[in-house]
Amino acid sequence: MNVFTICVLVHFKLALPTRLSLGWFIVSVSVTFFGARGSRPVSGSAYAQFGGDTALVVLDCGAEPILLDLGTGLSGFSRTLRDRGAFRASCLLSHYHFDHVQGLPFFADIDKIGNSLTIFAPDVGEKPLRTLYGPPFFPVSPFEFRGELEVRPIAAGRLELERSKASVVASLVPHTNVAFGYRIELGGATICYIPDHQAPYTRDTFAATALELADGADLLIHDAQYTPAEFELKSNWGHSTHLYAVDFAIAARVKRLALFHHDPSHSDNDLLAMELSAKEAYPSSGVEIFAARQGQVLQIVP
Ligand SMILES: [Zn+2]
Ligand SMILES: [Zn+2]
Repeated sequence: MNVFTICVLVHFKLALPTRLSLGWFIVSVSVTFFGARGSRPVSGSAYAQFGGDTALVVLDCGAEPILLDLGTGLSGFSRTLRDRGAFRASCLLSHYHFDHVQGLPFFADIDKIGNSLTIFAPDVGEKPLRTLYGPPFFPVSPFEFRGELEVRPIAAGRLELERSKASVVASLVPHTNVAFGYRIELGGATICYIPDHQAPYTRDTFAATALELADGADLLIHDAQYTPAEFELKSNWGHSTHLYAVDFAIAARVKRLALFHHDPSHSDNDLLAMELSAKEAYPSSGVEIFAARQGQVLQIVP
């Protein structure tokens, strides 16, 4: 498990009548990658380092955790809940493609009284998860489990997650179907999540909505599915190259870039080579670049 340490100082001031400042306090934010794979899960020794589970990142600031997507990484997250009490969390769902929702019906933690998961998702005018996860496609509906499972369709804009102490902005980003990217501000840190992002064919321009989401973020988690050669063959499949992710990160002036949504055909050796070429593309850019590994934790602490 790799641990990166980032120093974040958060300045709290209470609006007391005397306008008394309580000075500097420290808040810790952890970012855990439970699944960094795109399209479909994979397994085997060739994937041991970066993992095979699909998209799930968990943000935890000591309040209710925030789940970014519900891919098969949800199984690993579930194992961390075994010895904990009641589970309550929110999920920011980027979109409804299988690789982002496939973990939900196996998330047995929802089948416990007192547990709850609220899913904020793009409003597509239907109820895709209820349709997908019930007969005849799936034997039982997680919406009939004993805990609380709720989907709240949202429009693009700002969203306050009070129980997670987070302020969120959702924006449409280019993809093959309706998809959100998210900007999450919590614990004094800003994290931007754009797991699926259709790069333009020329790969030399950036969608204004996406750039605005990522602007100045402490951490950008971004689609890096293809090499440039692969992109030439799949240029309208809804994704970016790892080098476009670097260009985008520099344009958005982020501090760190996590290459994410790894193609299922990419072995550990492939991803190590992509990670290296991304780091070497602009060595003096000032952006810290790494390819996300399943099990990796970024600890945002003093
Ligand atoms: Zn995806
Ligand atoms: Zn997708």
